[in-house]
Amino acid sequence: MTKKDFYIEYLSIIRDFKQHLEQIMKKAPPSNTSSLHRMYQEIKNCQRCPLYKTRTNLVFGEGNPNATLILVGEAPGKYEDLQGKPFIGAAGKLLRESLKDLGIGEKKIYIANILKCRPPGNRNPNPEEISACLPYLKKQIQIIQPKIICSMGNFSSQILLNTTRGITYLRGQEFILKNKIILMPIYHPAASIYKPAWKKQFLMDLEKVRDKLSKI
Ligand code: URA
Repeated sequence: MTKKDFYIEYLSIIRDFKQHLEQIMKKAPPSNTSSLHRMYQEIKNCQRCPLYKTRTNLVFGEGNPNATLILVGEAPGKYEDLQGKPFIGAAGKLLRESLKDLGIGEKKIYIANILKCRPPGNRNPNPEEISACLPYLKKQIQIIQPKIICSMGNFSSQILLNTTRGITYLRGQEFILKNKIILMPIYHPAASIYKPAWKKQFLMDLEKVRDKLSKI
């Protein structure tokens, strides 16, 4: 090999290496799907509060990682705990059927809860559990960046709005959160099953959510 050939070869290796480095630097940021997946792997064995001792599964959340609407309930119940999915019992049936009837397709939504683990006997979540678990929901919201959050029921509405006002007062209103996301409280589907007047209101409020979604 002549000296000239050597330099040509040398320069071509440097050029290839530079191109390789440029490719690595250009790599796309992680998608919402992979960010949520990584988050799930990190927290699936969470022991931040004592609920891990009684849970069957941590209920992370379910839906489109690029959803424009996140619906937030209170905490998993018996069936959700057993299957690791949110809203699959009677309340979930009402919620999912209502969304479908209103034309709010599954592609638009993500469903989660304030707590990821079931409180024994479905008792109310306590402050220790809430402060341990709420950062997880906040991180999911940060990843998904929905346009609208629909808090379902007294509990999730009060936590997300940091208020003591009740759901009967809050529902039907729109609130703008710090991150510019619109929060629309509605009655919890479980409560709507037992109170026909609330069910009517629940459906009307979901309709408003649908209309708002179509405008933004
Ligand atoms: N009720 C909730 O608040 N969340 C569920 O996942 C199921 C029932």
